[in-house]
Amino acid sequence: MVDMQREEWLSLMLRELPDRLLIVDDHGRIIDSFGEAGQTTPATIDHYLNRTFKDILPPSVAEKLEHAFLQVLRTGQRTNLQYALAAGQQLQLSIEELDAWNGLDERWFEASLKPLTLTSGAQYVLWQEKEITNAYLHQAELKKQAETDELTGILNRRAFMLRLEREFDQPKQQHLSCLMVDIDHFKEINDQVGHLSGDDVIVQVAQICQGLIRTSDYIGRLGGEEFGVVLSRTNAIQAYDIAERIRHSIETTPCQVDEHIILPTVSIGIAELNANVSSVRELMVQADKAMYYSKQTGRNQVTIYYENLPDIKSSTELKVNIRRAS
Ligand code: GH3
Ligand code: MG
Ligand code: MG
Repeated sequence: MVDMQREEWLSLMLRELPDRLLIVDDHGRIIDSFGEAGQTTPATIDHYLNRTFKDILPPSVAEKLEHAFLQVLRTGQRTNLQYALAAGQQLQLSIEELDAWNGLDERWFEASLKPLTLTSGAQYVLWQEKEITNAYLHQAELKKQAETDELTGILNRRAFMLRLEREFDQPKQQHLSCLMVDIDHFKEINDQVGHLSGDDVIVQVAQICQGLIRTSDYIGRLGGEEFGVVLSRTNAIQAYDIAERIRHSIETTPCQVDEHIILPTVSIGIAELNANVSSVRELMVQADKAMYYSKQTGRNQVTIYYENLPDIKSSTELKVNIRRAS
């Protein structure tokens, strides 16, 4: 009697588990399903039973799960993975299941696969799955905020540098060029139209740069009125054309703020990532030197870095008091 009651408790508890639990045999067939209280309708259980990952999931997701499943069987170690299902991939959903999509384009799930061996020696995998869409979206939003420059909406300095560092660590792609873009005489713009209107100029310059690069390229705000642009699969000569387009577009796009019309200009430096460049820092220093050369030889122009680029000293009187540390 006690045992029967215990069995009933167990079966009730399994049904009430908030996550979905599936038992998968060593051929990858789902042989039992429990849990996901209130959501696993009989129709959906039928939908799963005696099917494999490939039968119930889109090919890309099924492949990922099958790979993890085989690894669990081989190593006897538990593994976790996350995957997304896109609304467009769900063609055979019941009305109840469609409701769960609630207008989302994509839902995220976390699956935990754990090996089970019965006393008979038969091997199974316990596939435990829960939806993590809310947590995933929250996390993605936090990540986006942490990477984004608040004023312009482009990458902030930290995110830009991290992305470039990652790119640098990968096996070298054909070519990559980095532009350093700095607004000319920006202090004067601030002085004449005010800091807030100056902000509008910064936003417009960022938008123009962003609008003239490809989706595989990226731009970040490196400082007040200074931007970095990375052009993938682009050598320095090709980068020059793009930089010229950016420079020209900024020069010819009036920025109207309050009663002022401002025509800002930028100075640009270009450095190409090649075998002679040993670090991201070196690449940035080269782009900065070339940008500085553009400044010192007249502004509103583009310079490509090369090894013997003259180190021009400022001819104007230095305003900042910097002394050599003894
Ligand atoms: P140059 O042509 O040599 O670049 O001259 P510049 O006046 O642009 O020189 P510099 O780069 O030294 O000055 C940048 C100025 O940008 C100084 C600072 O007051 C201003 N600035 C920095 N951050 C912001 C910001 O977020 N908004 C605004 N409006 N101004 C900023
Ligand atoms: Mg400047
Ligand atoms: Mg500057």
